[in-house]
Amino acid sequence: MINFKNTEIAFASKSDRDIIKARILYGIMASPFITKVAKSLTQFALMIHFPINWIVKPTIYNLFVGGETIEECASRVETLGKYGVKSILDYSVEGKENIEDIEKALAETLKSIENAGKYDNIPFAVFKPTAFTTSVVLTKASAGEELTEEEKKEAENFKKRVETLCRRAYEVDVPVLIDAEDSWYQNFIDETVEEMMIKFNKEKAVVFNTWQMYRKDRLEHLKKSYEKAKEKGYFLGAKFVRGAYMEKERERAAKTGYESPIHETKKDTDKSYNDALRFSFEHREIISIFNGTHNEESTLLLADLMEKNNIDKKDNRFWFSQLYGMSDHISFNLAAAGYNAAKYLPYGPVKHVLPYLFRRAEENTSVKGQTSRELMLIAGEIKRRKKIRKEMKEKN
Ligand SMILES: Cc1cc2nc3c(=O)[nH]c(=O)nc-3n(C[C@H](O)[C@H](O)[C@H](O)COP(=O)(O)OP(=O)(O)OC[C@H]3O[C@@H](n4cnc5c(N)ncnc54)[C@H](O)[C@@H]3O)c2cc1C
Repeated sequence: MINFKNTEIAFASKSDRDIIKARILYGIMASPFITKVAKSLTQFALMIHFPINWIVKPTIYNLFVGGETIEECASRVETLGKYGVKSILDYSVEGKENIEDIEKALAETLKSIENAGKYDNIPFAVFKPTAFTTSVVLTKASAGEELTEEEKKEAENFKKRVETLCRRAYEVDVPVLIDAEDSWYQNFIDETVEEMMIKFNKEKAVVFNTWQMYRKDRLEHLKKSYEKAKEKGYFLGAKFVRGAYMEKERERAAKTGYESPIHETKKDTDKSYNDALRFSFEHREIISIFNGTHNEESTLLLADLMEKNNIDKKDNRFWFSQLYGMSDHISFNLAAAGYNAAKYLPYGPVKHVLPYLFRRAEENTSVKGQTSRELMLIAGEIKRRKKIRKEMKEKN
């Protein structure tokens, strides 16, 4: 069975130097004060056009990001692949809203879809829908507000762009994951993704939507989506995550005066996440599951369900995934046990990937348990390697 405590497997791809570096970086991220100061300094440096690549690239960027381009990621993809861990290249440029940037993101995402179509080690493509239109259009359309003529056109353009991406994924036979972000954009994204599933998921799940299970309404939404898929005769691609924007969601709800869409406790989020996995597994004749989590319990839950029901570990309807630079003990041990495991591997120019990096640093600062878990595993592996070396020396 899977043993997440096996650090030899977890860190097999890392040299001694890599491990020491990871220990230092995780040690720094464990301090909210240092993380805050580093973020402010970086933002200040950017503002005054002070070069930052030389400090960011060999440190935190190198820990969490594959490279600036698809080509630069190739060696990471190969290294992970040697251990049975697949890669999902994620173009991580965020928050751009003008037409040139949208066109650029579209061209780059098409390239990444085509690239995924060529390599067994890249089993999915992925994109953030917010990269393909303005926040105003997404917010208004999601709230059911009246759009101006220009906004109506832009909303249609958004749908066309998403269709271009999904169609290419269908043509090169690569499933595509559509990420979820702020809840106030999601209704219009859900509507669009559903239309794509009707078009492209007739034979199998090619288009995957994301369900953020920290939202109170998502379990019901999943069940309704299943009913619709069954009725209309298409497969449902379901990527599950807990959700990355809890504080922002709660703040906006409090400020604007509506009920927070987020579960009140972590326990409720966990229950909702695990219930979604159980529901989807029960309906696996229609739903394909992408289990995007660093939570050991939710990972084992799906692995156990598969085992108890004699499902082949390589069955393509079931995937496990973690972010690059985090929870290698889950990804590598899953892969060693024969399951479908993949890393989200972000890429993009240093400057543009910074929001992603800040989020990772802050997440590792706030999710105390996770950072100390990484540090504990790293310490365990260093100790194990030292012991092996000592034993070898004594033998000689
Ligand atoms: C492969 C992959 C893809 C991802 N894609 C997306 C994406 O498209 N969109 C997105 O939003 N995020 C995405 N994430 C991030 C994800 O949503 C989580 O932020 C992150 O994975 C931590 O949750 P966990 O299940 O790994 O672990 P855990 O440590 O078990 O859970 C932490 C999460 O629990 C929830 N939580 C914590 N405290 C509370 C509380 N008091 N009340 C209610 N809920 C609470 C929050 O969602 C928090 O992030 C992705 C993660 C992975 C691994």
